[in-house]
Amino acid sequence: MMKQDVDQTISHALKSCQDSGVRLTPKREKVLRVLLEADSPLSAYDVVEQFRKDYAENLPAMSAYRILTFLLDNGFVHKLETTNQFLTCNHIRCDHPHQPPKFLICDQCNTVKELTISEDTLNELNRGIEEAGFTLVRKQLELHGLCEQCQKDTKV
Ligand SMILES: [Zn+2]
Ligand SMILES: [Zn+2]
Ligand SMILES: [Zn+2]
Repeated sequence: MMKQDVDQTISHALKSCQDSGVRLTPKREKVLRVLLEADSPLSAYDVVEQFRKDYAENLPAMSAYRILTFLLDNGFVHKLETTNQFLTCNHIRCDHPHQPPKFLICDQCNTVKELTISEDTLNELNRGIEEAGFTLVRKQLELHGLCEQCQKDTKV
């Protein structure tokens, strides 16, 4: 994300925290910034590393986890369960309600796209799951594959 977009997103996040009565402390803001500036999802360890590089400041792993949990709970970031990585929500600057997220994950270059699936498709999927007698432990869909660019690259 471009610097200007990062700044705008941060102000949006600050405002939305204010509205919901929580605090985006300077540390939380910095972690959010690290994730906004990343090109691909980061593990908690990557966040700690990047934080040190960006701010010449140590972020203990425990605080990193606590901050990431805060950002998750407030809908600013998502956690990919299958890879244990974090990324900012595509709808971080929107105010509309958010469905459980679905992701397309490229196993080659680690690019992730957040998908929007229609309510109907989702309901049908849920019906199928119910009929099969399953209860989902994780509602988040994560589909692994190859992105457009990597498909091109492998064809050469
Ligand atoms: Zn999202
Ligand atoms: Zn949106
Ligand atoms: Zn790829």
